[in-house]
Amino acid sequence: MEELRGSCGCGKSTYTLSRAPTRRFLCHCGICQAVYKAPYADAMITNASTVEIDPASPLTFRHLNGSKSIDRGICDSCGSPTMGFMKLGPGLRLGFVPTPTLSGAAGLPDPAMHIFYESRAADVEDSLPKYDTPGRSMRACLWPFVAGFAGW
Ligand SMILES: [Zn+2]
Ligand SMILES: [Zn+2]
Repeated sequence: MEELRGSCGCGKSTYTLSRAPTRRFLCHCGICQAVYKAPYADAMITNASTVEIDPASPLTFRHLNGSKSIDRGICDSCGSPTMGFMKLGPGLRLGFVPTPTLSGAAGLPDPAMHIFYESRAADVEDSLPKYDTPGRSMRACLWPFVAGFAGW
């Protein structure tokens, strides 16, 4: 499998993925709306061990909604979200990859669901499942990773 190279909007913050993420979702939460400056975020989840951030990247990582939330890496130069991490448990750390950072890459999964749909800025007319409330959203989004972790 070929490595994937991603970057922020201005190109100063870059990273490599050793394989393509397997799961993609559309998040309507208020923090994603603010960080992505869009009605919802288009992002993918992968095992954090597949992510290598270029050490020269001017990224600042912050927890924007409490310490258990995603640690979001935002480019100091252009303000775009470039990579996020979330620790689910011992040895279980996920990478959250903003899909726009891989624009043009082949082999990315199609979006599988909408989450935090209760916070939506506007209704979306498509056939994807739509999950509301943080509990249901996070379960729908993360469960396959927890369940499949033994096989990683
Ligand atoms: Zn940038
Ligand atoms: Zn979100």
